[in-house]
Amino acid sequence: MTARILIVDDVAANTRLLEAKLSAEYYQIATAQDGFEALRLAYTWQPDLILLDIMMPELDGFETCRRLKSDIKTQHIPIVMVTALGEPRERLRGLESGADDFLTKPVEYDTLLARVRSLVRLKRLLDELRVRGETARALGLAGEMVALPSVSGARALVIDDWDLGARNVQAALAREGILPGRASSEAETMALTAAIPFDLIVLSLSMATDDALRLAARLRAADATHDIPLLLLAEPDQRDRLLRGFDLGANDWLLRPVDENELRARARNQIRRKFYQDRLRADLGHALEMALTDPLTGFYNQRYLMRHLGTLLGSGQPGGVAVLMVDVDHFKAVNDRWGHAVGDRALKAVADMLRGRTRVFDSIARYGGEEFVVVMPGANPQDAIAAAERLRGAVECMDFSPEPGVGHGMTISIGVAFGQGGEITAEQLLQSADHAMYLAKRAGRNRVEVAGAAERTTVEGL
Ligand SMILES: [Mg+2]
Repeated sequence: MTARILIVDDVAANTRLLEAKLSAEYYQIATAQDGFEALRLAYTWQPDLILLDIMMPELDGFETCRRLKSDIKTQHIPIVMVTALGEPRERLRGLESGADDFLTKPVEYDTLLARVRSLVRLKRLLDELRVRGETARALGLAGEMVALPSVSGARALVIDDWDLGARNVQAALAREGILPGRASSEAETMALTAAIPFDLIVLSLSMATDDALRLAARLRAADATHDIPLLLLAEPDQRDRLLRGFDLGANDWLLRPVDENELRARARNQIRRKFYQDRLRADLGHALEMALTDPLTGFYNQRYLMRHLGTLLGSGQPGGVAVLMVDVDHFKAVNDRWGHAVGDRALKAVADMLRGRTRVFDSIARYGGEEFVVVMPGANPQDAIAAAERLRGAVECMDFSPEPGVGHGMTISIGVAFGQGGEITAEQLLQSADHAMYLAKRAGRNRVEVAGAAERTTVEGL
């Protein structure tokens, strides 16, 4: 997954070093030599992550960070502070100015890349929610963003089978106004998280009785916990396990012995981000869902689709947008033979199949009577074509009974189109997907056609 990273350091050798390392991982890089340039680039280039040096002349890293985090245009961008200062007090100051993480020079590259991957993954999810929230506001269906709430009253779960360690962590969180629960085994954790909506989970990697990494994986996979920030506690010699935990989806870590102030600051940052995410979700509240969804399938309607696609293409996010125009084959025959109630049931069966086989970032809309549109932000053409082929195959294998004991095979035809923001409008993109879908129908239905592919084949065949 590519991402834009802004590297800020007043020493050119430092930016060059980081740039070389991150470019090799296919990240897009921009660099700034001072805080003012960093602010300007953060505004105009909208990076996915900022690596920020602390010691800089004029505007230092703390102040740059504070300004970025207090501006609505940049507050969602994760910031990793990079510094030669190993002082706990400086780390704390960085976290208090809003930094999401802290790395010390010389930078350990495995650690850096693990943090970058984890922060970029989270930002992608928040970006998608933010675009949807903007769409809702543009339609007058959600209020303006307001200041973030305090973390006091938030609920945390501390998972550790070592009593003293757990008690110390709980006491530190309580001094921040956070309500800390405790679990000492995997079974207890799963029972508690199923019953209580926590805002933070602190997991010790040193548990003697259960495998903490397996538990981290379970927490990431379970519906009730997959969006809850996960903070790992580890011994200094558990670095490999920490990196593994990050790849499993942990959001942050702390090394033992735990510095209370750092724990409180990291807990605060994670909970605030959770609240930000919750509010973005709430922006799309129930009223919005009702106004913009199709009652039969629960998918977005055409009105929402046009806005959402327009916002996506205009948001300047890297990567393109793929659109799948899906049309149910011979649908009129189902309606004519068994009536509209059965027709509706057939549409709903196809819709459920589409819903279960698309990514969490994708949106699906009911476009017309028997037409659906799948919008895949950030997907490349190969992914989109593979996804279309999967959907086509799944519907073909679906069992549908119009009446007891009678089976009726359903199929769909799909047109795939791909566009880059700034190069194509929502209307043009849909039109080209629609044209490809028409070609799929003409070629015999139950097929996937790609917009532009016919022209390319002709040229190659000359
Ligand atoms: Mg410096």
